[in-house]
Amino acid sequence: MSELTNTPTHVPMPTPEDNPVITTADDKSTGGKNNGKKVFIKTYGCQMNVYDTERMEDALAQDGYTSTDVMEDADLVLLNTCHIREKAAEKVYSDIGRVNKVKIKRAKKGLKTTLGVTGCVAQAEGKEIMHRAPIVNLVAGPQTYHNLSRMVEEAESGKRVVETEFEIEEKFAKLKTPTRKQIIARGVAAFLTVQEGCDKFCTFCVVPYTRGAEVSRSVDQIIEEAHRLVDAGVGEVTLLGQNVNAWHGAKNGKEWRLGELLYKLSEIEGLKRLRYTTSHPIDMDDVLIEAHGKIDKLMPYLHLPVQSGSDKILKSMNRHHTSAEYMDVIKRVRKVRPDMAISGDFIVGFPGESDEDFEQTMDLIREVGYSSTYSFKYSERPGTPGAEMDNKVPESIKAERLLRLQALLREQLIDFNQNCVGKEMDILIEKKGRDAGQIVGRSPWLQAVVIDGDMSEVGNIVRVKPKSANAAALMADRIKS
Ligand code: SF4
Repeated sequence: MSELTNTPTHVPMPTPEDNPVITTADDKSTGGKNNGKKVFIKTYGCQMNVYDTERMEDALAQDGYTSTDVMEDADLVLLNTCHIREKAAEKVYSDIGRVNKVKIKRAKKGLKTTLGVTGCVAQAEGKEIMHRAPIVNLVAGPQTYHNLSRMVEEAESGKRVVETEFEIEEKFAKLKTPTRKQIIARGVAAFLTVQEGCDKFCTFCVVPYTRGAEVSRSVDQIIEEAHRLVDAGVGEVTLLGQNVNAWHGAKNGKEWRLGELLYKLSEIEGLKRLRYTTSHPIDMDDVLIEAHGKIDKLMPYLHLPVQSGSDKILKSMNRHHTSAEYMDVIKRVRKVRPDMAISGDFIVGFPGESDEDFEQTMDLIREVGYSSTYSFKYSERPGTPGAEMDNKVPESIKAERLLRLQALLREQLIDFNQNCVGKEMDILIEKKGRDAGQIVGRSPWLQAVVIDGDMSEVGNIVRVKPKSANAAALMADRIKS
């Protein structure tokens, strides 16, 4: 998403770097008919993939599949892959090997297992996966999920299926909608994809090649989905897109961009909070910036990746903006919303990055003051212009720079959280806490906030005052009204 880069996760909900998000469902019934079959989906990478996994579960539920978090129980295993991380494809092949062992064990019991690879590695590797891994039955790129039912049926009947064509408008129009039960099971904060793809072609990034050109969903589709989510009890909606603020549409003959869409969505009764991610600095237009000062439901948190503070490197990365232009956006956003938390992505060690370039990145970080970030060493993605560049930075220097950069960012994160101690805030209760009698809510700035309470409060907005903070969370007392 924007910054579905070479590197980061581009999303404000951190997922552990090397631990893929495992979408599980505790054998939940997924609604519709039941064919007695189970599906296990392993989701790697960004929230876009989490969203896609949910849509795949929706489609399969309507074919009678129940989701499971136990691979050994699954008749259908899907690896919903991400191409962002280094050696992404190799990790997928190694997971395919693991599934193969399960497949063999199940076969000894007379059970059949169908294996599919979906997501960005599927898109990038296509037939190569079929060639290298004969146990794979299905390879499906991200723009083909509306055909998943048919593809799975064909794969189960013995055909080896590869679909990686781009037909994204059709995907948006035909994706199965989740049932009320499915929405409720996924919690009070939901994602809603409004845009996919990227036309920016940053020289380190594979997204334009794996997700295709920027395509926006229609206003009506988005509003309808938002209503469905809210009617099922969702309180917070995060609009998703690789370049979410490149979203555009039309309503009543007028051109809309993301700002106008946010105004419209904020009118939905029962919707308590809105967020969007991930944004590109060049698409932060005036209406969107103003919206932060005018829409109460729009939370004061902006994920706005910059990658580097050096204009030389930004140019070489093809970012289409300078560090001063980035800073100008930050200043304008903070002018209308002074408490705005800024999150970002950084790549260190891009080809040609000198000590001075790196210091410029450190200066920019000091100037912005980030609340949370994703930072990585540059690593080449085959097929991207960055992979062909000279002046590569030695790994040892990259590692050294990353350490320094992350130490500064961690300091800023802790400062940000500690500055919230004693400050009253509203949190949206999302789930139970680690300890008995505790529940966890989300602050406007996306921090996890732990208070005493029980699950009957999930979905409520509760006024609290934090009493302590660390890098991971705030501990708070509720304010008695
Ligand atoms: S190419 Fe697009 S998706 Fe990739 S980092 Fe650049 S803006 Fe983000």
